[in-house]
Formats: sequence, structure tokens, C-alpha cells
Amino acid sequence: MRIIYTDNNATTKVADEVLEEMLPYFGELYGNPSSMHTFGDQVDKKMKQARQRVADFINADPDEIIFTSCGTESDNSAIYSAINAYPEKKHIITSNVEHPAVNKFYQQLQKTKGYEVTFVPVDKKGLLDLDLLYNSISDNTAIISLMWANNETGVMFPIEEIAKKANEKGVLFHTDAIQAAGKIPIDVKKAGIDMLSLSGHKIHAPKGIGVLYVKQGFKFSPLLIGGHQEKGRRGGTENTVSIIGLGKACELARENLTIVNTKVRKLRDYLQTRLLEKIPGSSVNGDLELRLPNTLSIGFDAVEGESILLMLDREGICASSGSACTSGSLEPSHVLMAMKVPFKSAHGSIRFSLSHYNTKEEMDIIITALVPVIQKLRDMSPFWKDGKVI
Ligand code: PLP
Repeated sequence: MRIIYTDNNATTKVADEVLEEMLPYFGELYGNPSSMHTFGDQVDKKMKQARQRVADFINADPDEIIFTSCGTESDNSAIYSAINAYPEKKHIITSNVEHPAVNKFYQQLQKTKGYEVTFVPVDKKGLLDLDLLYNSISDNTAIISLMWANNETGVMFPIEEIAKKANEKGVLFHTDAIQAAGKIPIDVKKAGIDMLSLSGHKIHAPKGIGVLYVKQGFKFSPLLIGGHQEKGRRGGTENTVSIIGLGKACELARENLTIVNTKVRKLRDYLQTRLLEKIPGSSVNGDLELRLPNTLSIGFDAVEGESILLMLDREGICASSGSACTSGSLEPSHVLMAMKVPFKSAHGSIRFSLSHYNTKEEMDIIITALVPVIQKLRDMSPFWKDGKVI
């Protein structure tokens, strides 16, 4: 069966060019980059090239790049390091729509270490309450940590503006740019960001490789203590093959930024417009403008998201009913709940997240498949009668 993959915020296909670049380092070039011989040195040289490519992708210096095992480790490391740098400061600011990699870490600090955490709320479009955010900054604030773009709705926060405010107030600023990367330009220097997380598998590199950018001058405390790798900032022999793949993926992501913002945006808008036209009782979750060009979170009244997904899956269409981490639960996601999306449509919300590999023909297949799926589910739903929700 032909697979139509529209779950790119969960993970992406490894690009052919990335795989090609990695292959020799799975095979004959298996040296350890820390070894004092030419065999290891060849890998070290290739890793240096990868570090430069990642740095160029976000306008950082190569020394400011720390390779980690995933986005979650990058997020955890940033927060851990901030609270170690300022042990006397016991207040943290974040939002109530963050990924669990940030969210749960803060909840644990709150419960076990007595930190006061301000979870800044969002409005029904998923936009941050900036007044509340700025008013909550105090001398006791150790870090502000906010995602650049939301994984479920694609809604973007004004990170550059917030980073400027944090700099003015002398508070450390971390952003989880895991979903924003490859979809909008990122310039850490221009934005004045102190720490930034990336994850390889969201930008056509393999799973299990992440990056933490740490601005020069910040006294970083490692989460993983061990060897001298990553200049002592992250112990453990490097995942050289995936680092090399990530370097190539960053180079490609830079080149593809225009395509994502033209072709992919057009496909997403086409899918959105047609679905809203053809399916009554449907609505988009999140701000229509301040949104990643590839993401469409759309709610269908009076049906179950899980049932929609199962029926689409039978047609070879891969989408998501929320973030991969929350699927499996029948509760609407914490993001849609924070946005106060009405229960009737939050429950029937589906996320389509596209990449430059998608085509218009695929969008037409999704539209053709989805219309009867929703109709069938509504015919069985006790919450739908005479063409409307009851
Ligand atoms: N942060 C965001 C916004 C994400 O979307 C994800 C993954 O879905 C993560 C963090 C975690 O990244 P990883 O899967 O590489 O641990």
C-alpha cells in the first residue's frame, strides 16, 4: 500500500543525501574521534565539519555546539545547567504548552526541590500572555525557557522579542527550537539567545541525536559527567555517525527553507481550505498567521481523533491526534486544553505535519479519504444530529 506520510512533527524521513554521508562511518570508518591515531582522526575531521555545518545553520560558533543524544537531553541539560549556575535563584518561567521534555522537568523541580515555576498561559489561539510573562520576571528568576514553535499546533512564540526582554533583565533565556528548525530562519546571535535545543530526527537526520547551543561565556554544568568529550560539557563517546548525518541535514535544511515556506506552506493551506470547505463543523486550532508553514491542527466536531486516525491508517495515511508523546491517552492534549479548545472539537483533533517530500496529489488523496471518514463516524456519534453537533 502507498504510504502518505504527514506526521513530520513526530519524526521525519532520513534524507537520501544524509544517509549517503553517514554510510562510510557505519562501515570502514569506525574510528573513535578521541583516538590519537590517523584512523580516529579522519572521523574527528568529519565531525568538525558537521559541527561547523550545525553552527552555520543557527549562526553560532562551532565551540558553542554541544552534541547530545536527543532533544529531550538538550532541554534537560539546559535547565539543569541554569539552576546549577544560579543556585540561589529559585524561580523559573515557562509556558503551559511546552513539550514534556521541559514541562515534566520543571514539575519535578517544583515538587522535589521547592522551585516556584510560573507556567505562563496561552489564549485560545495558542499565543502567550506576554504581559504576565514580563511581569513575572524577578531577581529570583534563574531561567526563562520557552518553545519557539509548538509541536501540536505549530503556533510560534515571539522568541526574539522575549529574548531581548530577558537580556535587558539579565535573566538566562533558553528556547526549545526543535520544531522551528528547518521551517523558519534561526539566528542565535541576532536573537540574543543563551541556550537553544535542536533534535536531528525532526529535520531529516536520524533519531537519537540532538544539539544544545550554549552561548560562549556561560558557565555550563554538564548533565552527563564522564570523559572529556564535547570539551567536558557532555561525557560519553560521541554518536559520530548521527552527528555526521545531522551536519548534512542542517546544510540541506538551510537550502530547503525557501521551499518549506513556499511549496509546503501552499500544500498545507490547500489541505486546510479544502477540509474546512468540505467538512462542516471543522475548525483550525491555533493562530492562522503566527504558525509554522507545515503544520495543520484541525478539529472535527463530535468525533474521536483516535477513530479518525485508525480509519486514515487503513488508507495508508499517517497523521497524529496530538504529539506522539501524548497519543495513547484518550484525554485531549494538554496543549489544546491550555488553549481552551471546546471539548467537542479538541477530542476530534488531528495534526497533519508536512514536509517538502509531500505532493498536491497526496493532499487530494487525504481530502478524498477524510470526508467519508468523518461522515461515517458522525453517523455513529451520539453528539451529531441533522448536520450539527448537539
Ligand atoms: N521538544 C519538542 C518541541 C518536540 O517536539 C520534541 C519531540 O517531539 C522534543 C522536545 C523531544 O525531542 P526528542 O524526541 O529528540 O527527544
